[in-house]
Amino acid sequence: TSSHAELVIIGTGMAGIGLARALRRQGDQRSIMLVSADSGDDYSKPLLSTGFAKGLAPEQLAQRSATDLGEELNAHMVIHTQVTALNVDNQTILLEDGMVLGYDALVLATGAAPRVPFSIEPSIAQRCFTINDLDDYRRFHTALGQGPARVAIVGAGLVGCEFANDLHAGGHRVRLIAPEGTLLPRLLPPPLGNALGDAFSEAGIHLHLARSIDSIAAENGEDIVLRLDNGDAVSADLVLMATGLTPRTALAESAGLNVSPSGIVVDRQLRTSHPNIYALGDAACVDGVNAMYVQPLQASAKALAATLAGAPTPVSFGAWPIVVKTPLLPVVAYPPTNTPERWRIEGEGGDISALAENKDGRLIGFALTGGCVRRKVELSRAAPALLG
Ligand code: FAD
Repeated sequence: TSSHAELVIIGTGMAGIGLARALRRQGDQRSIMLVSADSGDDYSKPLLSTGFAKGLAPEQLAQRSATDLGEELNAHMVIHTQVTALNVDNQTILLEDGMVLGYDALVLATGAAPRVPFSIEPSIAQRCFTINDLDDYRRFHTALGQGPARVAIVGAGLVGCEFANDLHAGGHRVRLIAPEGTLLPRLLPPPLGNALGDAFSEAGIHLHLARSIDSIAAENGEDIVLRLDNGDAVSADLVLMATGLTPRTALAESAGLNVSPSGIVVDRQLRTSHPNIYALGDAACVDGVNAMYVQPLQASAKALAATLAGAPTPVSFGAWPIVVKTPLLPVVAYPPTNTPERWRIEGEGGDISALAENKDGRLIGFALTGGCVRRKVELSRAAPALLG
């Protein structure tokens, strides 16, 4: 029946769908139910920050509707439905509509939620956005409308920089505001962050770095005005907040599973602290690591599919660099997990390579811009695995 499945997966992001696909690919016949708070459409999240330049409508980003996905995977899809509680003793989950579903095994693939560090007044909430799934993209796409819009992006991390580049390429007027002094502060040492900043500025993206926001309010009836700590005022039609992501751990935590600020705590076999409950993707902290990008979740899906099929398989993560989608200046980074002893930085203009070394002179991470990104493969081979 539809109120019980041998495997229930909460979340239809790349982690949840990836796991269901990996299981079916290996011939697994068990009943699978996928439950999602969003539309359940199959889409590639990394493409969200490339869609505005290409003028892609939201429908063009959905590779498959939830209905088609359910058919492909021979899975029962429960969409636009929040799971509100988990009862580990009865092996059931509670849905927002009051329905109770039973499972033999449960997988938490609940992803991470945008974190907005300040409160937004209701009067402007309709014009302040985060984009972390296809539904968000749909709303922002509608709000942008036809003509060029003035977009203020808050945040200088991967999401903020990619949307800045993409919206700029799509013809919009972009300003980027962040408290840090350089772009991509967690991925790039300052000289490389500056190189990306120069490429953005030369293209006409206006940067307000090392600035905090004192207020965001509607002024003159129309404009949203962001007032900065140095007295500057940035006027915008829309605000896009790219101020970080927090793993969604609430469901697991209230059911008594071990969680940390980095995610739902799982071992190398993606097992939580409770039998028959697993986690992967942005929600999970695997043996101390929550990488929050695609390759680790794909490796996790493959390993977990094998484990669920009866062959316990620990996952490992290679030295997989992050390719930042900023065509104005290509960036590749494999940030060191520990603070390096030194950064060895070479190159000029936009073509810079930075090698992070420990005190024994060993390569422990790297960052590359412009023409230097071609060193990606060579350096990945020399760097230590993320989770070896
Ligand atoms: P999500 O995609 O967040 O899915 C979580 C799912 O859980 C959703 O279906 C949600 O509805 C559901 N859910 C959560 N809580 C509940 C609940 N209580 N009840 C029911 N359902 C629930 N990574 C790369 O490697 N390369 C890139 O180029 C790249 N670009 C990116 C660009 C952008 C703009 C963003 C935001 C991220 C990018 N990433 C990139 C990161 C990558 O996309 C993510 O790591 C990955 O998509 C996470 O997938 P997930 O399935 O773990 O989580």
